[in-house]
Amino acid sequence: DVSHNVILYLEDITVAFDGFRALNDLTLYVDAGELRCIIGPNGAGKTTMMDVITGKTRPDSGSAWFGQTIDLLQLDEPEIAAAGIGRKFQKPTVFTEHSVFENLELAMAGDKRVWRILFAKLTPAQIERIESVLETIGLKDQRDARAGSLSHGQKQWLEIGMLLMQDPQLLLVDEPVAGMTPQETERTAELLLGLAGKHSVVVVEHDMAFVRSIARKVTVLHEGSVLAEGSLDEVQNNAKVVEVYLGE
Ligand code: ADP
Repeated sequence: DVSHNVILYLEDITVAFDGFRALNDLTLYVDAGELRCIIGPNGAGKTTMMDVITGKTRPDSGSAWFGQTIDLLQLDEPEIAAAGIGRKFQKPTVFTEHSVFENLELAMAGDKRVWRILFAKLTPAQIERIESVLETIGLKDQRDARAGSLSHGQKQWLEIGMLLMQDPQLLLVDEPVAGMTPQETERTAELLLGLAGKHSVVVVEHDMAFVRSIARKVTVLHEGSVLAEGSLDEVQNNAKVVEVYLGE
């Protein structure tokens, strides 16, 4: 019995590579506005799960719905992005030669014709939108800085901001704090917590201290299915989870 508030339904998803099941009857629901952390040992299927949600990988069986009406398995990658699912990969891919502001401008256009976009005149509403995202990601003071000159953490925030320009309902974020300083990590926790509620956020993360600082609910993947789900304390005290992590 699934609540009407669910934004993402993955049901009995199986993905096999040459007979090996990277996902094995995976069932997972994410509520609207939720901030969910996905953890699990290497090879558990976390990346494959993200690839299924974004249309990069087609499952062999199962179903995947976005909200009540969008069948993700009927859409290709660009259509899924346009439907409101944004994905941030671990490595930031900002336009290093352009300013922070221009990066957001380009992301708003969602288009690769860089010069055409940067010469077009922005409407007051568009400027306001960019400024509001600058505020959200904490880069107001860096708006004219070349993106290539930003710190690693600032580049990650800029990339989150670029996703926000498309106003996605669901954000998928892969290891956001890898390589960050403790201060940047703390700032990232605040940023993601601030996005939850308005957006649903699914974070794949290995850093347990970080997971503790952001997640209400944690899903542990193991061998392509859900091993445990609950608060971080609940899953860390789960005997099956202890066994899997100690056995690594
Ligand atoms: P995680 O992100 O949790 O580390 P992955 O989803 O990357 O796990 O991988 C799950 C399993 O599927 C691993 O054993 C991996 O080797 C395998 N796998 C992933 N992608 C492919 C592929 N394209 N071809 C063959 N095996 C793959």
